[in-house]
Amino acid sequence: MTNPGTNPYLEAAKRASLWHAEYRRKMKSCRFDTIAVHGIYSMQEALDFNQGSIIEPIYMSTSQGYRDADEMEAALGYRIPTWCYSRIANPSIYYLEGVLSLLEGFGGDFETSCIATSSGMAAIQSAIDPFLVTFHGQSDKPMNFVASAQVYGGTYQQFMMRKQYDRNIEWRKVINTTDLQEWESRIDENTRFLYGELPSNPCLGFFDIKAVADLAHKYNIPLIIDSTVATPALLRPLLYGADIVVQSVTKSLFSSGFGICGAVIARKNITSNIDNPEMKADFAQYLKLLPNRDNGPNVSPMNAILALNDIRTLRSRMDLFSRSTTTVAKFLEKHPQVECVDYLGMESHSLHELASRYMFLVDSEFDELYGRKVNRYGHLMSFQIKGDAKKTREVFDALTMIWRATDLGRIKSVATIPAISTHSQQGEEGRKLAGIPDNLIRLCIGGEHPDDIIKDLDQALSVLDGLKIHVTFPEFSAGGASSARIKKEE
Ligand SMILES: *Cc1c(COP(=O)(O)O)cnc(C)c1O
Repeated sequence: MTNPGTNPYLEAAKRASLWHAEYRRKMKSCRFDTIAVHGIYSMQEALDFNQGSIIEPIYMSTSQGYRDADEMEAALGYRIPTWCYSRIANPSIYYLEGVLSLLEGFGGDFETSCIATSSGMAAIQSAIDPFLVTFHGQSDKPMNFVASAQVYGGTYQQFMMRKQYDRNIEWRKVINTTDLQEWESRIDENTRFLYGELPSNPCLGFFDIKAVADLAHKYNIPLIIDSTVATPALLRPLLYGADIVVQSVTKSLFSSGFGICGAVIARKNITSNIDNPEMKADFAQYLKLLPNRDNGPNVSPMNAILALNDIRTLRSRMDLFSRSTTTVAKFLEKHPQVECVDYLGMESHSLHELASRYMFLVDSEFDELYGRKVNRYGHLMSFQIKGDAKKTREVFDALTMIWRATDLGRIKSVATIPAISTHSQQGEEGRKLAGIPDNLIRLCIGGEHPDDIIKDLDQALSVLDGLKIHVTFPEFSAGGASSARIKKEE
């Protein structure tokens, strides 16, 4: 090839891009469930290029071959849509990114884009790192970022150890996130972004997204939200001014629990005080083409397709889980052995009103079951038992159907004691800041009937009445855990 202008692939690529953009626009006008089911995979694409396969194909190949030098040159110069190498892009991952960007931007009249990552932690790292750079001419004083103290345990470690300890980037913690003045008092000219979880895992912290987004923009910095607990079926922070959303796709989006995956979804033209026009124009695309290409935190095509397949039923699942969680929370609230229940859906919760302004089951007004906007608060709740750390373990150990696992968003209900699991590494002081007492059990309600979940909780709590339940696992048996015996004794 002599002159890039004569490359025959450029014209074809332009036509394909226009067609894809048109299809995306068409999908954007559909209801949430339709987008979740079909995403950006069209019938025409299936028939023309994918043997008519009605499900998005998995391209496990590491690399793409090219017809000739012209095509290769245009592809590797990012001048035609291509995937060249799966660390950078891949058709199966493309479908996942397409559907997530549409769902997270659902209801907004702005454009969004998405990059999938190997995990939620990789998504957080990918989302914040481009702001933690020193540019020529910028102040060389230590940088900082302002983020709520109540965050997921892994996020706490990443912020505390990998950023503050390893790199001397200060994490300025906001303790009372509903206090706008506290947020503002932490910001200075070296602040690179604001960050929060909505709702937070496991303490269900919540704040006024719109007010905090406005505050960020007043200081010319972005607001980044981890919206894993809500999912786009219940909350879409971009609609209220957030610049970037991170998702641990691993959780409710990828409900079957077959793999780890994350995603960064951003609106186009984000706010930032970093002088990097390319980054601000299309943040997710920038990550894809540059930092994540260089750092390599990409997801495998297999995980991408499996996640995509679960996302199709996201809305109805989140509705079911939320309703069951409300039922379970009401039961626990009345239980004599329960000190208190923490669930945003309870009217008694101090953040109930605030959360009710933001958390709705998407499209419920078009659902014949509801016919109006209905609040839904997700499937994460916690409760404190009347007792100490030891008693908490006893109740926990007595669960027979609810899994003891540090997980969230599964089709199966899971429970954890955050103080000894997700939040053990941050020590007592960190847990105090995050509001994690020893007698707290976090519950994440799945798809079982709530009657059976309640039965399991009730019998587990009965250990506090002095009635002991032992679940004994034989040391060795061919049946393994399936032959566990349950023995009750006084
Ligand atoms: C699990 C979780 C993460 C981390 O995601 P991984 O996929 O496990 O890396 C981040 N944020 C929240 C709120 C989470 O629950």
